[in-house]
Amino acid sequence: MEYKAYTVRNFRSIPQIKLLPESLKKEMEIVARVLPFKSNSYVVDKLINWDNYSEDPIFKLTFPVREILSEEHFSRIENAIMAEKPEAEIRKICEKIKMELNPHPAGQLEMNIPLFDNQKLEGVQHKYKETVLFFPLQGQTCHAYCTFCFRWPQFSGLEGMKISSKYDEKFGQYLKQKKEVTNVLITGGDPLVMKTNILAKYLKNLLEPGLEHIHTIRIGSKALAYWPYRFLTDPDAGELINLFKEVASAGKQLTLMAHFNHPVELGTKAVKHAIRVIRSAGVQIRTQSPILKNINDSAKVWAKMWRLQAGLGCHPYYMFMARDTGAKQYFDVSLNDAYEIFREAYSKVSGVARTARGPVMSAAPGKVHVVGVSEVSGQKIFVLQFIQARKSDWVKRPFFAKFNPDASWLTDLEPAFGEEKFFWQQEFEEMSRLNLKNAAFQEEE
Ligand SMILES: *Cc1c(COP(=O)(O)O)cnc(C)c1O
Ligand code: SF4
Repeated sequence: MEYKAYTVRNFRSIPQIKLLPESLKKEMEIVARVLPFKSNSYVVDKLINWDNYSEDPIFKLTFPVREILSEEHFSRIENAIMAEKPEAEIRKICEKIKMELNPHPAGQLEMNIPLFDNQKLEGVQHKYKETVLFFPLQGQTCHAYCTFCFRWPQFSGLEGMKISSKYDEKFGQYLKQKKEVTNVLITGGDPLVMKTNILAKYLKNLLEPGLEHIHTIRIGSKALAYWPYRFLTDPDAGELINLFKEVASAGKQLTLMAHFNHPVELGTKAVKHAIRVIRSAGVQIRTQSPILKNINDSAKVWAKMWRLQAGLGCHPYYMFMARDTGAKQYFDVSLNDAYEIFREAYSKVSGVARTARGPVMSAAPGKVHVVGVSEVSGQKIFVLQFIQARKSDWVKRPFFAKFNPDASWLTDLEPAFGEEKFFWQQEFEEMSRLNLKNAAFQEEE
């Protein structure tokens, strides 16, 4: 299959779109002014059921339906267009709306960039002791865009909002010095949009002497779901698989952190074939997804997804809460609902698929796991814990929040049992105020 990208400029040429009502297409054009839109030939032809497009999870996942903007935002743009305001003015309105959509949640921009030689390492985040995130410059786009995505400022041309880098000597020196780092996670966008020869440079840098402490290289990617031909028939697909083999035989664990949102993404011949090819190159596949209303907010869907993944030799890893950004209101699932869905799905699968953890919020102080809902001395509470934390000592210490059926993020929660703050809160607030203005994770040495 040939890769063909669809954007707001050419989506009207998609045969299936031609059949849709004009009003819907106009709405999509309005939404796409704010949230970046990109789909492709595989997603359109193999994943979406056009007979029932308005209910189709993958349609809603990549096409900019009206509901992903708030009514207020939508009509602000619509009114400007109807009033025939000049294009420059409409664009200004859209930029303003983008800023109102919380483009960098969880202090991503300010808090996680490490300092080395008193210089910021651009395109690098080091929040948790063992794992460094790297955003290669050429990997900051994707084969299609998810409408819920918190990375959207990276695609939508918001000034000063991109985080990306070329691997340079400084980053290499940083890694060599930080012996506690065991994992490098190459992320994006989608690093697998890069040509193999570019990815090869980045990966080979990580095989250098002096980096023996890095035992695992992870690549965060949605290519399996959005473009499995990346591993099969793209001109440099064979090279990519050879590169995987080379990294594996250099003694590093190479892990694909594969992003799947719905079981339908695991159903095509192409994706199954690609998974086999990747695994036989010595690469592990771990899977993760946010839980999203209108896409996958049911236990049946998650159980099916985990079961299919386990059957294909992939390990379920995280169920995330949707971040507080972009189209959150359309995709929002409450912590309580997410927990119930997780619990029910988990109870339906065998042990080999119970490697998933969730629901998890990737919040500013750390990755917070909703362990459960319980009742203690007549008070209903959430039981929570950090799976990862800005300070390692916070990890795995249960803490308790008042039950709130509407809460969907850590910041909606209050401590239970009359406590004023969560045990980590004071320290976190001090970190944010003082030393973490630019620096990332800082551990007492
Ligand atoms: C999730 C995450 C990681 C990786 O955490 P693991 O639990 O090791 O998968 C690393 N850095 C950041 C900033 C993250 O959000
Ligand atoms: S593939 Fe990942 S980075 Fe790309 S749009 Fe989807 S969620 Fe965002």
